[in-house]
Amino acid sequence: MTSAASDQPPALADRFGRLLRDLRISVTDRCNFRCRYCMPREVFGPSFEFLRRDEILSFEEITRLARIFASVGVRKVRLTGGEPTLRAELPTLIRMLSAIEGLEVTLTTNGSLLAHQAQALADAGLRRITVSLDSLDDTVFRAMNDMDFPVRLVLEGIDSAVRAGIAPIKVNAVIRRGVNEHTLLDLARHFRGSGHILRFIEYMDVGTTNGWRMDEVVPGSEVVARISAEMPLVPLEANYRGEVAQRWAYADGSGEVGVITSVTQPFCGDCTRARLTASGELVTCLFASHGLDLKASLRDGSSDADLERVIRGVWSERDDRYSELRSEATRDLPRLEMSRLGG
Ligand code: SAM
Ligand code: SF4
Ligand code: SF4
Repeated sequence: MTSAASDQPPALADRFGRLLRDLRISVTDRCNFRCRYCMPREVFGPSFEFLRRDEILSFEEITRLARIFASVGVRKVRLTGGEPTLRAELPTLIRMLSAIEGLEVTLTTNGSLLAHQAQALADAGLRRITVSLDSLDDTVFRAMNDMDFPVRLVLEGIDSAVRAGIAPIKVNAVIRRGVNEHTLLDLARHFRGSGHILRFIEYMDVGTTNGWRMDEVVPGSEVVARISAEMPLVPLEANYRGEVAQRWAYADGSGEVGVITSVTQPFCGDCTRARLTASGELVTCLFASHGLDLKASLRDGSSDADLERVIRGVWSERDDRYSELRSEATRDLPRLEMSRLGG
């Protein structure tokens, strides 16, 4: 039974009045892809030291924190990573989180293992999923994931998710100038009319290892103009305050696409997202240099009330708005890597 509106947990506001509504939980820092914009293999190679098992939060620890976050107003958790489907027994975690009243559970995945896992994830209660797929051109995609992983298996994963009842699906594509920009129209044509929602993400300067350059960013406005020239688009209202994607509908009613313009049109003013790293750090911005260690409190006998006090303290002090401040002056600031943060 869902609570009446008056029974909803009190919202927790930061220094700019932004409420804590979403929590992205990284369940592993490992990945079977080496996307060059996220985990370049020169850095994340054989000698890279990933987290040890005992450094990663257990399902019980994650669920305990999620319950506390829900009690201070979080409505949605997104499991991510690294590649979340690499985490053993992921459906068990989905089941545990889905049992928390008032909390919606979603997952972001590269789709590589979905063909095998979709049914178990759906059986565990997963109803919504985002699959990352940067191109339908096999050569381009294999080079972008730098694992020679074929498009076909990701598309099979999407089909399996649909068969398991997880739909509509959101499909995320990061567009890089000179890398996959020439294939964005193919993606739009493919997913138009499918019921799935394709979203183009501007390439971001997350972390410090991907060699990001502004001239590799394809602005969302350009993506919209290119699609609209062939398949006319009209703007749509946001579904809710804080939605990261700008929504556009095909004028002929054949569906919608989105653009996530974190670089060219930042949306920090509506950012209601916190992140929990696989090792239990609470991070309040995608571009943060560090987080606050909740694992220590989880493991030192602190009560739920103690943990809630810590979370309230961190969020109420939050004043992050990196994307609005992005400039030469912020360029060399230390930043956590996306694979560690949970994208
Ligand atoms: N491995 C899963 C996946 O790829 O969907 C989940 C984690 S991944 C870090 C989450 C999202 O972040 C993906 O959609 C990915 O494309 C996006 N991402 C990673 N690095 C990025 C960057 N530098 N700029 C924009 N998006 C990025
Ligand atoms: Fe892995 Fe996702 Fe990062 Fe690609 S974007 S390297 S799939 S974590
Ligand atoms: Fe939120 Fe930080 Fe991104 Fe701004 S830069 S939208 S505060 S995560």
